Amino acid sequence: MDKPLEPAFSFSERAQQLTSSAIREILKVTERPEVISFAGGLPAPGGFPVEVVRAAFDKVLATNGRAALQYGPTEGFAPLRQWVADDLNRAGANVAADQILIVSGSQQALDLLGKVLIDKDSKVLVEDPSYLGALQSFSLYQPKFVPVPTDEGGLIPEAITPELADGARFLYALPNFQNPTGRTLNLERRIALVKRAAELNLTIVEDDPYGELRYAGEPQPGLIALAAEYGANVVRLGTFSKVLAPGLRLGYIAGARSLINKLVQAKQATDLHTPTLTQMAVYEIVKDGFLEEHLPNVREIYRAQGSCMLDAIKQEFPSTVTWTKPEGGMFIWLTLPEHMDSTKLLEKAIAQNVAFVPGAPFYSGAGKPNTLRLSFATVPEDKIRTGIAILGKLLKEYTA
Ligand code: PMP
Repeated sequence: MDKPLEPAFSFSERAQQLTSSAIREILKVTERPEVISFAGGLPAPGGFPVEVVRAAFDKVLATNGRAALQYGPTEGFAPLRQWVADDLNRAGANVAADQILIVSGSQQALDLLGKVLIDKDSKVLVEDPSYLGALQSFSLYQPKFVPVPTDEGGLIPEAITPELADGARFLYALPNFQNPTGRTLNLERRIALVKRAAELNLTIVEDDPYGELRYAGEPQPGLIALAAEYGANVVRLGTFSKVLAPGLRLGYIAGARSLINKLVQAKQATDLHTPTLTQMAVYEIVKDGFLEEHLPNVREIYRAQGSCMLDAIKQEFPSTVTWTKPEGGMFIWLTLPEHMDSTKLLEKAIAQNVAFVPGAPFYSGAGKPNTLRLSFATVPEDKIRTGIAILGKLLKEYTA
């Protein structure tokens, strides 16, 4: 029998922006169990408090089952919104519960912000390089990305000139252990950035999924906390993905009431609300301070694997390669000599069952082919050492 014809669709202009990258295709092989993959962006599963989550869902269903299974308000479960506001305020912010919108992961926050703030050809400032998932979310709304230069210290506030900021809908910033570079903005730069944004009337979207995963150095104030001091407009995105588990799909947006109200309208049209049961269970988990006892364990997993990878890199990689030394989070960014192309290195690495993500797609400006991202979050220490040794050998052959 003939195969039925694939129906043809006229995809929207917006949908035509969505492409499946060549690298994604190459990285499909990383699902094979024999591959040591430094490519993933997944958190360490050893840090998921499975039993605590199970007990919380049980308790919510046993004590409040009908409410937990009912539709809820688009804004989110009120006690959880209050908890998020209190948590942010403990870290120096000044927000009320009605300035919090609970969302289905911070990825949804990125999409909703795109929906309500970006028109076709709107200017959006992004760090260069930046989080690929944000570039993809925003791309659906067809902005013009304006790359803001970065150096070893992350985003360079002075690079945001009045000309650059003119008419921009917002700046998307990742101040802690940035995805993809692992870099962190120091206090001086944070203050300079927030002051400049206030002067230029530039909204900052601060995305901070990794801030709680600091295992070295001094904690820095969030941009939202500095905003309270310097009068800037900061919208803050947070998530339970890295402090509890990403499968919960739970995050939040904190911002001015006018923005939150508009986002509520957009979210209502998108999915009515984030699952009630999940919100109630997570509130049950966090309300009595569970994170304070849990986070040191999670940080220790990342610290141990991160330092194992840094030690191995130091031992195995040629001196022509440079890399970042993150104080938290899960990414290390490598810069190879200028003539080298990390996509070519990836092909050779995959042939030896090791994977990583080439750096070029993270740039909205001119991508640097000689960069790449390594994640140490899901790889046990013996495999980190084996994988890095293989990469080191390939790099030495490539540089020779
Ligand atoms: N922002 C950044 C910088 C991320 O790295 C991620 C996940 N890898 C997200 C947002 C989305 O996370 P989630 O939707 O799980 O909150």
